[in-house]
Formats: sequence, C-alpha cells, structure tokens
Amino acid sequence: MIAEVIVDIAHSDVDKIFDYACDEDITAGMRVAVPFGRSVATGFVVRVKDKSDYPAEKLKRVYRAEEDFAAITSECLHLAKKISERYRCPLALSLRLFLPAEMRTGKVSEVYKTYARLSGQAVTISPRAPKQAMLYSYLDEHGEAESAYLREQFGAAAYKSLLEKGALKEEKRRRYRDPYKEVSGERAEHTLTPAQANAVASIKNTEKTVTLLHGVTGSGKTEIYLNMIAEELKAGRSAIFLVPEISLTPQMLSQLRARFGRSAAILHSGLSAGERFDEWMRLREGEAKIAIGARSAVFAPVENVGVIIIDEEHDGSYSSESSPRYNTADIALLRAKHNGCKLILGSATPSVETYMKAKNGEYNLVKLPNRINARPLPEVNIVDMRREVRRGNPSPFSRILKEKLEKCLGEGNQAILFLNRRGYSQTVICRDCGYVAKCENCDVSLTYHSEENCLKCHYCGAKYRMLPACPECGGKHIRYVGTGTQKIESELKSLYPNARILRMDNDTTNGKEGHFKILKQFSERKADILVGTQMVAKGHDFPAVTLVGILDADMSLHFSDYRSGERTFQLVTQVAGRSGRAEDRGEVVLQTFDPENYILRFATAYDYEGFYEHEISIRAATMFPPFAKIVRVMVCGENEKEALSALKEVYDRLNQIYQEKSESFLIFNKMHAPIKYIKNSYRYQVLMRLVDPLLLKEIYAACSEVKPKNALVYVEENPANLS
Ligand code: ADP
Ligand code: ZN
Repeated sequence: MIAEVIVDIAHSDVDKIFDYACDEDITAGMRVAVPFGRSVATGFVVRVKDKSDYPAEKLKRVYRAEEDFAAITSECLHLAKKISERYRCPLALSLRLFLPAEMRTGKVSEVYKTYARLSGQAVTISPRAPKQAMLYSYLDEHGEAESAYLREQFGAAAYKSLLEKGALKEEKRRRYRDPYKEVSGERAEHTLTPAQANAVASIKNTEKTVTLLHGVTGSGKTEIYLNMIAEELKAGRSAIFLVPEISLTPQMLSQLRARFGRSAAILHSGLSAGERFDEWMRLREGEAKIAIGARSAVFAPVENVGVIIIDEEHDGSYSSESSPRYNTADIALLRAKHNGCKLILGSATPSVETYMKAKNGEYNLVKLPNRINARPLPEVNIVDMRREVRRGNPSPFSRILKEKLEKCLGEGNQAILFLNRRGYSQTVICRDCGYVAKCENCDVSLTYHSEENCLKCHYCGAKYRMLPACPECGGKHIRYVGTGTQKIESELKSLYPNARILRMDNDTTNGKEGHFKILKQFSERKADILVGTQMVAKGHDFPAVTLVGILDADMSLHFSDYRSGERTFQLVTQVAGRSGRAEDRGEVVLQTFDPENYILRFATAYDYEGFYEHEISIRAATMFPPFAKIVRVMVCGENEKEALSALKEVYDRLNQIYQEKSESFLIFNKMHAPIKYIKNSYRYQVLMRLVDPLLLKEIYAACSEVKPKNALVYVEENPANLS
C-alpha cells in the first residue's frame, strides 16, 4: 500500500504530498512517523492508494503509526483542505487545528486503570486461603472490580495467586480525567413556551442552513439550544455548541452537566493539558457527543453532526488572531453543509453583517422579542456626567447611581458595576463638552500616538497635529485617562464599608479558576457588588441582580474603529441584560458624557431595528463593511532590512493587482503599521479597502508567493484591531 503523507512542518516548501510505502493497517487521517531527509518527521496520511507514480525502489517506508486510530476524521480532512485553499496556508497548519496541541507535542500520557473479573477457568482454592476464597466470591457476585480495590480489600498476595492460577482476567481501560467534577447542578429542564417551540419549528423546517436567532436577553435562547441538542443526541447524532471564551459561566456548565452528564465534553483553554486531551479523546471515541467550547471547538472530532450552535455570534472572539486567521462562522457553515445539518447563530445584538444577511434572505430569521414570562426589560436611566462635573461631583459615581445602589443593597439584592475601560486613553475626548477628534475622510475616532505626539487614523493613514485644546469649547481637559476597576473598588469600599465587593478584570482572573471562582462566589450571593470590565457583560444569569451601573457608557464609542458604534450598542445591551432576570424588576443607570448619542438612545430603548437601520446607512455612505472589505497585509520581522525587502516584494505584487483593477479598490496604501514595533518586531502593512471581495483570492495568492526567510507575511480580513 501507498500512503500519501503531509509532513507536519508548517512551511510552504514542504507543503506537498509525499508518497510512502506502508502496511495494510495504515488509514487516511492517521498520524505516522516517516523518514524525512536525514531525520524522522511526523506526518498526516491524507490518502491511501495502491500504486505510486514514484519508482518503487526509491520509495521510503512509513516507520509506524503514532496512534492506532485516525486522529483526523474524513470530514476533518476534507475541511482542512478547504481551509488551506481559502486562507492559503500550508495543509499541515490547517490539519493542526483539528488536534489538541498535547497530541502533537506528546506531552500527555493517557491514564489507564486495571480491572479484574473471573476468567471462568476452574481453580482450586486451598481452605487455608480464606482471602482468596473471599475475593473469588466477591467477583462472582459483583462481576468486575478495579484491581487496586481488590488488592486493598483482600490482600495483594491473594490477588496475585489467583491471577497466577488463571482464575482472574485483567483488562486495562482508559480512565478519563474529568475537569469539572466539582460542578454540579439541578436538572432544570423547561417545557418550551409557545414562542420557543415556534422558534425550534422554524429552525427545523426552513430550507436554509443558517438561522439567526435574534432574541432579547433572557428570552430563552439557551433553553432552545439545549432542547435541540437533546433531540439530536436522542436521534444518535452529535452537536457542536460554541460560546465566547469567557461566557463559560459556572451556571452554563452546571446546566450542561446536569442535563447531558458525560455526553458533553468541554474544550476550554483554561483546562490542563491532560484534561483537554482527554475531553478530545472522549469525543473522538464517541463516548461524548456534544462538543462545547470557544471558537476552536468548531474543529471538534465529532461525527454525524446534527446541529451547530454559535451563541453570542457577534462576539469578537470568533475571529482567530493567529494563522490561519479563520472566521468561526465560515468553518461552522462548511461543517453544517457537509453534515446536512442546521447552523444556529444566536444573539440579542447580532452583528450588522449577520443581520443584513438575515434581512436579505440569505439566513432564516427568528425573533424572540420578549423575555420569558413577559418579564420586563430593565428600565434605563441616562445620566449626563458633564452636568455632574459642573455640579461639583467629580467622583465616578453619579448621585442617582449612589441612591439606587443604596436602595438595591438595602433590599438585599445584588448590583453589577461595569467599567468600559479598554483602549480609552488613546482617544481624544473633551471632558467639558464631549467633543471627540475624528478623521475627516473616514468618520472614525483618531488615535493618539505619544511617541510622535500626533493623531492618526488607522483606516486611511491620515495624520493630524495633536490638539492643544478643544476646538469646540476651548476646554483643556482633552485627554481622558480612565479610572481603573481597582480605584472604583476602593472608592466603593470607603462609601459602603459593609458591602461585600468582588472585582473581575484581567488582573483578578487567572486561568480557568479565576473567572469561575469569582462568578461562583457572586452567584452564591457571597458578595453584594461585582465590579468589572467587559467580562461581566457576557451572558451571565444572576437572578438577584436588580441594578446595573454602566460607569462610562460612551467609552467604547470612541474606539478608533468603524465598529465602535456597534460594539457600544452590543455592550450596553448585554450589560443591561444582566439586570432583573428574575421576579424583581431590574434597573440600569447609564453614565455618559454624550447623552444625546444616537447609539446610546437606541440601546437604552432596546431598539435593535432602529440601531441597525441607522448603522447600515452610515456603513453604506462611508463604504465600510459589509459594503466593502478591509484587508490588511502585515509584514513583520526582527530585522528591519529584511522586513522592508519583504514588504517591497509584497507591495510590488499587490500593486500589480491594484494597477489592473484599481476601480475595485477604495484604498490602497503602503505604510508603517500604526504601532511600528511590537515585541522586537518591525511592523509594516499594506492597507486596502475592496469593493469587490472576489479580489481576496488574488491577494492571498500574491502574498503566499512571497517567502521571506526572516519575516512573516499574513493577510487579515476586516481585522478587529488595526494598531
Ligand atoms: P437567553 O439565553 O435568551 O438569555 P435563557 O435561556 O438563559 O435566556 O433564559 C432566561 C431565563 O428563563 C433562565 O433563567 C431560564 O431558566 C428561564 N427559562 C428559559 N426557558 C424557559 C421556559 N420554557 N419556561 C420557564 N423558564 C424558562
Ligand atoms: Zn481616515
């Protein structure tokens, strides 16, 4: 037999198929050790065939299989090829996506346990060996037991002599580590409401593969997902359930465990290497059928997939930031089509791109406009912080927020305070009047670069002088340095010495335990106030929370990003949605320097349609996605000269495309990346905005032809961050 092998080396020079002779037991998808050059390499068998075109006497032989099963299923092989074509990356790189890293590095051992049972062979037991007799009758009664247990109960000697006489049969079996054994929950299964049942029926009956489930926070989307997963499981099929990294909340985990037990495998970056490997193995062997996890779980080795769900589809974590830079929904769609199953995208605040596809009929659209049991959405109070400053209240808490907080705590309820801190200090905003510096060409906020003391537009490269004062009101407080969560925490402590306060941000959350512990404590009501950044906005369900304070709502409005309006709408809606999820009506206090802002107005009125119509008209007018595609080709390298020469080569090739098809480009621009130097690496970019997305293919192809020795070249599509 001949195995076609892709060597597991992610370099374009070896990105081709090599033929090796092999034995019958080698199958497609297996990992094998092969002679390669003067050494041994690991490779993936992509196909097995009878004959090679290569002369038989020159053909080398596969040394051995790395595992006794195919690590890559046939569906995954097919997907890996598609990913390589789409993103122009070596096949070895896309194949790696489908394996737990631990498998490739060989760093985890499988854990085996030995079990014993009676062999059925007749033996004589001496009356002077009562322990042997007891062991024998124990197994006779119980059938099977762990060897370690038997030795402990009846003595190692008794066990050994029975084994030597042939009375016992031993069997080694894999024992899986269980990362969430301490998680337990009640099996809360609800009968679907008519609205939920209609949603399920629509998802099943539509001819479209993709359904957008647009339901307000607390409308029962999760219950719909679980219901559909349960049905697929019953029918013998498997499921993939994707959630943004940090929304793996304790409640969600315990719900899943209670409902699906060990049928659910949780793939999560916070697990130990061994745990992650075991969860993957359970899926590969079919012991577990539901793969739950962040974006990488879209590569789970499940077969016969019955449904794929992407919860909080708008979340930024679904775009990969390392090569290949895939979009999770694209991969999920490939898998759904391959399996002939449905793909559900769920969100209270769908991305503008997704919603447009639903509106124009490419996706099936299902709406859940009401919360379960018609619970009202929380009432939102907008507070003008400029007025607070003028009235002599410089603290981060407005009067009304303090009042409501006292009331909330007095009634024994819980509160969440949200701080929208990210990326703020680089924006130029006047604290006296709310003026924000924007690019004249692009209508996005400018970013301050301290090393050059200037303002830059990340979308067109325009540079502006730093302003000495606000051009609108002449105010001097033009750069705002945000307050940190720590400061908020300590101010709260002095205001409310008796309140129990928890803080959640990047500093307090390390690994899987970090989030988990804080959220668990809060949900067990061991704290009264939870202060945090973006992480507290995710889909948590804390019934006792009746007040949410958004301390600086407009912060994310001024990210220098065309999506900042969308992001703000999503954030405000999500954070507000944490309030009043049970019987007591919830309230939200939203503090802002820009109370008239239309995004905040739409968000506080829960008017997604209004927001969408407004936003999409701006995108159309300014030619931003989904009406154009932003493409950035990055060239990075530690050696400035080599990086520059790679840049030149990339630029020349791209420029050729540009010269031929300039009408398809809105922008074509070679420059330093806005941040010129990160982690010892010089960064250059060619920034493009395309009206014709078909050109992408040519751009990928052009870039894949540039193969610098000491520089990295990669393509980003609609990158989340242009720094
Ligand atoms: P979403 O995912 O849309 O935010 P959830 O599925 O978390 O909403 O539901 C919100 C709350 O309503 C949860 O506490 C959930 O247990 C409850 N719930 C969901 N579906 C039902 C139902 N059919 N009957 C009763 N309660 C339900
Ligand atoms: Zn610009």
